[in-house]
Amino acid sequence: MRIGQGIDVHAFKTGGTLVLGGVIIPYPRGLEAHSDGDVVLHALCDALLGAAGLGDIGQHFPSSDPTWRDIDSRVLLRSTIAMVIEEGCRLVNADITVVAQEPHLRPFIGAMRGYISDDLQVNADQVNIKATTTERLGFAGRGEGIAAFAVVLLED
Ligand code: MG
Repeated sequence: MRIGQGIDVHAFKTGGTLVLGGVIIPYPRGLEAHSDGDVVLHALCDALLGAAGLGDIGQHFPSSDPTWRDIDSRVLLRSTIAMVIEEGCRLVNADITVVAQEPHLRPFIGAMRGYISDDLQVNADQVNIKATTTERLGFAGRGEGIAAFAVVLLED
């Protein structure tokens, strides 16, 4: 068994599209990023790469490379799981926590789970997603940005 963790944070920008776990969330602001700013998928990619001993997302998809500009992070996730499988590892489960004061994410969790389990080619019950606030404390609580934390377990 191999365990991995991943963390990502992005700041809100003025306007734009908010994409979390591959789902477009109706909200007036998106997240500042080189890609689509999907913190959920970035944290998950880092956890997968970490568990497989493959470094980190910045190493594989550098923001200096125009290939990844405005990229759909689901492409990064699919490419990441392909590298993990190539290493001879199989996903046992993933658990993700999204920290956002707003918008209210519960209505979108099922869709995120569907996209992520499709991209990872696992059952939806192997991917758990939780959303929480920080009771208005800190950057997330002030609505300055969104954070995501992921842990995964791989079997090799
Ligand atoms: Mg990121």
